[in-house]
Amino acid sequence: MTRVPYLSARLQGFGTTVFAEMSALAATTGAINLGQGFPDTPGPAEVLDVARAAIGTPHDQYPPGPGLPELRTAISAHVQRFRGPAYDPDGEVLVTAGATEALTAALLALLDPGDEVVLFEPMYDCYAAAVAMAGGVVRAVPLVPPPASDGVWTFDAERLRAAVTPRTRLLLLNTPHNPTGKVFDRQELATLAALAIGSDLLVLTDEVYEHLVFSGAEHVSLAELPGMRDRTLVVSSGGKTFNTTGWKVGWICGPAPLVSAVRTAKQFLTYVNAGPFQPAMAAGLALPDAYFTGIARDLEYRRDVLVEGLHGAGLPVVSPQATYFAIVDVRPVQPDGDGLAFCRSLPARAGVVAVPIGGFYAPQDEHLGRHLVRFAFCKRDEVLAEAVERLGRMSA
Ligand code: PMP
Ligand code: GLN
Repeated sequence: MTRVPYLSARLQGFGTTVFAEMSALAATTGAINLGQGFPDTPGPAEVLDVARAAIGTPHDQYPPGPGLPELRTAISAHVQRFRGPAYDPDGEVLVTAGATEALTAALLALLDPGDEVVLFEPMYDCYAAAVAMAGGVVRAVPLVPPPASDGVWTFDAERLRAAVTPRTRLLLLNTPHNPTGKVFDRQELATLAALAIGSDLLVLTDEVYEHLVFSGAEHVSLAELPGMRDRTLVVSSGGKTFNTTGWKVGWICGPAPLVSAVRTAKQFLTYVNAGPFQPAMAAGLALPDAYFTGIARDLEYRRDVLVEGLHGAGLPVVSPQATYFAIVDVRPVQPDGDGLAFCRSLPARAGVVAVPIGGFYAPQDEHLGRHLVRFAFCKRDEVLAEAVERLGRMSA
């Protein structure tokens, strides 16, 4: 690997994110962007109106460091409504600049140099970078794709246990999982909980897709399992749930000593953010249950449209249980199995942009995802229909 000038040793190897590269490709070619995961319709009026009304008021100034009290109360009530664990809005809930800052602040707060983090790959791209910034070491355990497209991704519990060493400090989980669309089931979570308790690990669980779960799957947080609340930090964000990915309002909940440690790091990253959006997020979290079931049902329909279209285009695809994303194996249409080359050529071949998955693996495991590519389906009917039609006509 060539050394990038000026960049610290910690960040060598972390270039431009693949999301930025592929969104730029969509912008320059005019291709339909099914790469970066963001919706193309506005969020609920009940949320947007509160934000609009908050601009030009004292909400334009710094909110309190831990987050607007009204938002922390709304987060606590929302978590209790959907999951069970009760968090004290004062001391056990922290508002952050998106889930990204919550994760980064938690890793900076909790890791000492050389501490190991066990996580599954493919992994969301900021995890490895945040562990590196904290001086930690990633120990990645591969998720295994299903043999047939109606199966689910799994993991080898022995391999997971073998990844834990005396230097392991933390288990980092993402469920529902980006990019595979996997939802970890209760049995898998029990395996993870037993490991965390047995090896005395802290747990950081990223649940930003908690409400985007389809029929047949159920989202359960590791924090809900017996013995887990006191060692677990749960991260979420309003971006996906309220179609507001650009607002960057996230949060982290957990026992007070852990949240207090995270707050120490967080206050020197951004201190605070998103003043006028914080009351809007509080309004969103208080919406009735029907809103949350409605967004999942709507997205499930979009999943089916895209999955069917990808099948029709000759691309083997695993139907995801949740999230915005479906992963395909490009080998039938890209015989060398190079997913990155496929994505770079896709605007010319089909007028569509997707994201290659190789970079979601630790460097030594990139070959496991080289032939995999992710498509997002959080798009309007006409956009998805056009993308599916174009993929069906894809040139060689
Ligand atoms: N975690 C996962 C798994 C994600 O997919 C994303 C963004 N799509 C994030 C975290 C970041 O969330 P935010 O935009 O709230 O920082
Ligand atoms: N989380 C979004 C995705 O997975 C993208 C976020 C980003 O661009 N960093 O596509």
